[in-house]
Amino acid sequence: MRRIYFDHSATTPVHPEVAEAMYRFLTGDNFGNPSSIHYFGLQARKAVTEAREKVAQAIGASPSEIVFTSGGTEADNMAIHGAAVANRKRGNHVITSAVEHHAVLDAVKNLGKQGFEITILPVDEYGMVRVEDVEKAITDKTTLITIMHANNEVGTIMPVAEIGKLARERGIVFHVDAVQSFGKIPVNVDELGADLLSVSGHKIYGPKGVGALYVRKGTPWRQTLVFGGGQERRRRAGTENVPGIVGLGKAAELALANMEEENRKLTALRDRLIEGVLNRFEDVILTGHPEKRLPNHASFCFKYIEGESLLLSLDMKGIAVSSGSACTSGSLEPSYVLLAMGIPYELAHGSLRVTMGKDNTEEDVDYFLEVMGPVVERIRAISPLTGKTGEPSLGTAVAR
Ligand SMILES: *Cc1c(COP(=O)(O)O)cnc(C)c1O
Repeated sequence: MRRIYFDHSATTPVHPEVAEAMYRFLTGDNFGNPSSIHYFGLQARKAVTEAREKVAQAIGASPSEIVFTSGGTEADNMAIHGAAVANRKRGNHVITSAVEHHAVLDAVKNLGKQGFEITILPVDEYGMVRVEDVEKAITDKTTLITIMHANNEVGTIMPVAEIGKLARERGIVFHVDAVQSFGKIPVNVDELGADLLSVSGHKIYGPKGVGALYVRKGTPWRQTLVFGGGQERRRRAGTENVPGIVGLGKAAELALANMEEENRKLTALRDRLIEGVLNRFEDVILTGHPEKRLPNHASFCFKYIEGESLLLSLDMKGIAVSSGSACTSGSLEPSYVLLAMGIPYELAHGSLRVTMGKDNTEEDVDYFLEVMGPVVERIRAISPLTGKTGEPSLGTAVAR
């Protein structure tokens, strides 16, 4: 069966060049522990150093500001907990948004349980945080603002640079979850005004289970979660995941080298798909910002349809998409991101996310559109939401 992978925001296949680079550190003489000072250790140490330089270069940082982690989730947790605790004497107020990834939102909520004051900002209809809301939420007790660069569910790109400027003026630590934007659009820590920034390997054709936290030199932050050895300049204990780190470095290098070309290609595919869906179907909206969105990201809400049924029907036809985020799918609650955007509960149930990648083609998009027609028609015909007749009841207002 023809199979099309359209779920690159959930994870990506490992690039062959990345796999090759990693393989060399799983075999032969390169298995050493980077902390060992003999030949074997030095081989591994050298590889980690090179990977650190590549990741640093990809975000405009110095190698010494990169801390390797077990992924985006750990980087987010380390950033948020470490900044909150290190600044505890100065203040106890943390600001975030309602549409952050669970790794950020739950880390902040956990701070709330530990006696920190937290503000979870609303978003507009596009899922975008308003800069003036951030400004209004700041108090003299605010020590940390954490806002994502691009949203994983709706693809919206946030006004992060403006928020970073605000934070800088007030001496507040600014963390950016750049897991979705890294490798797809330019991510520069100085341009974004980020003091802390999280990235992950497996969203950029690297391996799963490895990521990095950028920590700007001089940022009041300390390691608070993983105690043990003195690796990563005492900022993250534990023997380094050498093959993973090598893979992340290679993936970052490739992403940077191919960004412009990929960006152009993916934007064209995305727009072809969005136009195709909006022209072909009734009672469907694009979710997220129409222009300020990731180049590979299309997301919709279909009326009179369960997103899960749509996903499963497409899967039977060999097309892999997502309904809501991977973390929330499997539950019957609609996505908290869509609800925060003011999308009605019933409409939010019909969400579909199509995220394209480097191996997708125009033919993939056309095949998807072709398959979607009968699938949408069939699901709507039997949907309890439309009534037994199959006639849509056009009662509820459709957002935008
Ligand atoms: C995937 C993702 C994460 C988590 O990264 P992992 O490496 O899977 O732990 C965090 N934030 C965002 C926005 C993501 O898309």
